[in-house]
Amino acid sequence: MVISDFGGVLTTPLAESFMAIQDSAGVSARDFGEALTETTDRTGKNPLFELECGRITEHEFTASMADGLESILGHRPDFREFGVTFFKALHPNIAMIDLIREVRRNGYRASLLTNNVKEWEPLWRSMLPVDELFETVVDSGFVGCRKPDPRIYELLLMRVDLPPEACVFIDDMEINCQAAIDLGMQAIHFREAAQTRAELHGLLGL
Ligand SMILES: [Mg+2]
Repeated sequence: MVISDFGGVLTTPLAESFMAIQDSAGVSARDFGEALTETTDRTGKNPLFELECGRITEHEFTASMADGLESILGHRPDFREFGVTFFKALHPNIAMIDLIREVRRNGYRASLLTNNVKEWEPLWRSMLPVDELFETVVDSGFVGCRKPDPRIYELLLMRVDLPPEACVFIDDMEINCQAAIDLGMQAIHFREAAQTRAELHGLLGL
């Protein structure tokens, strides 16, 4: 089975979405990162991780980020359109969608393992034919843990009833690939579609 990440693998790079947030709310990625660190230090919890595990809502997340950014920027940024702005700048990676189709045509199964936001499900699902490509979707926002926590990989393995050795995991974050390898999967660190396709062909003997 091929297990794919969503953001940055089946889509264009997320950096473009952070640029869009910067343009619409006037918050740079650096300021955003600073507010995230400050809030994490102050509350003992990383708001992004809490959001991705579905323990806080998107609104609670943007409110806590606006709190943190108010002291950095001197004003409170307007994040009402956060999710919509984020997704407007994100586009499907057609070469990667074609690769998943090719994998399926060759008789392999495919699943999606995504760190995501509960409220964003309609936004990301409308970007690609999820049900055509993937037999199983495990979304952090609905299961209460996120990559690289081994429990989310184990949950997927349980749902598809396969041992880790039968899986190739693809992700653009090295830490998520390492967690998959530690569990006994093979992993491909996505950098671009052609490199991922070549590595996957090598591993599956296509
Ligand atoms: Mg990713």
